[in-house]
Amino acid sequence: MDIAFKNLETLVIHGGIPEDKTTGSVNVPIYQTSTFHQLELGKTRGYEYARTGNPTREALERLIADLERGTDGFAFASGMAALTAVFDLFKSGDEVLISENVYGGTFRVLDKVFKNFGITYRLADTANADAFESAISLKTKAVLIESPANPLLTVTDIARISEISKAHGITVIVDNTFLTPYLQRPLELGADIVVHSATKYLGGHSDVVSGLAVVKDSGLAERLAFLQNATGGVLGPFDSFLLIRGIKTLAVRMDRHGENALAVAEFLERHPAVEHVYYPGLRNSTGYEIQKKQARSSGGMLSFTLSPKYDLKTFFKSLRLIALAESLGGVESLVCHPATMTHASIPEDIRKKVGITDNLIRLSIGIEHKDEIINDLAQAFAQAKK
Ligand SMILES: *Cc1c(COP(=O)(O)O)cnc(C)c1O
Repeated sequence: MDIAFKNLETLVIHGGIPEDKTTGSVNVPIYQTSTFHQLELGKTRGYEYARTGNPTREALERLIADLERGTDGFAFASGMAALTAVFDLFKSGDEVLISENVYGGTFRVLDKVFKNFGITYRLADTANADAFESAISLKTKAVLIESPANPLLTVTDIARISEISKAHGITVIVDNTFLTPYLQRPLELGADIVVHSATKYLGGHSDVVSGLAVVKDSGLAERLAFLQNATGGVLGPFDSFLLIRGIKTLAVRMDRHGENALAVAEFLERHPAVEHVYYPGLRNSTGYEIQKKQARSSGGMLSFTLSPKYDLKTFFKSLRLIALAESLGGVESLVCHPATMTHASIPEDIRKKVGITDNLIRLSIGIEHKDEIINDLAQAFAQAKK
């Protein structure tokens, strides 16, 4: 849009293409079509075939570009489809460095798919700038950062890593799923590409699987547009509409997620059932200062380790409000066991090395009343005490 509005609270509602030009409909319609009439040979109204471009998807793509302060956005059928299109930018012989705690599916697609095509990966401790710099090799062409990373909420200094990467000609990719542009904007911190599993906070209601990518460079935009059309993992018009609808309430949802998560983190910190709480919004957490510098708050995700004096299975079984489920970022609180669920595809030795222990529990804090979330945890701890 021709932006007079700069604040994300306003942009989530009025960014992108805020209304339908032909009818004035305040919501962009669901253009449920696969093809478009052409005016004459070689002359279109801007659309020809819906894999290449669809007006509902385009409204979403313009919206996410506005929110991330990029120039071009791309919508995909899932976060993994978005990441796959981004990895397609590289070629045999190239190497990607990844944060030690990346999403299990990201690790899996690199380890089981891209490796077969000669694009290799290595784990790097991006939270430690010196360790990251010494991990760079002549083959390194990209680094993929998650900050805070999944599931230990490790914080990476995105500006610092971007600065080092720029000096080495390395493309910086940030998976911004956990914070969304309302809380953190990696392109403004120097990153080249932002990726989202929009299935999570952007959609926000656990009712759509989708992915997004945003860039700020016209060369990269052209290559990603080509790859999106050539490989075809695009988001359909109805799902694009659901995402636009979800994003309208992003600011109020993220505020509540953050407020609730901080209250839960403080409760867990004091509870005898808990050994350690991982949440960068806690003053004594390792990433606190960097998090404060680069993000508006710490979001709704946190993890903790359960004391051996409490039974893990009984704890999970005793929760009544918080649902045991994969995924995150919806309005409802969810709990998961990373070692056997989200991170099961990571080999045990790597899992242990990066701290994904069997007593680690991850929470996606929803927007229910915080007292009821805390009470649910408290009663489950009481039942699980050995
Ligand atoms: C869920 C998730 C993905 C994968 O996204 P899908 O939409 O499930 O394909 C990637 N990165 C992070 C951080 C995630 O949480």
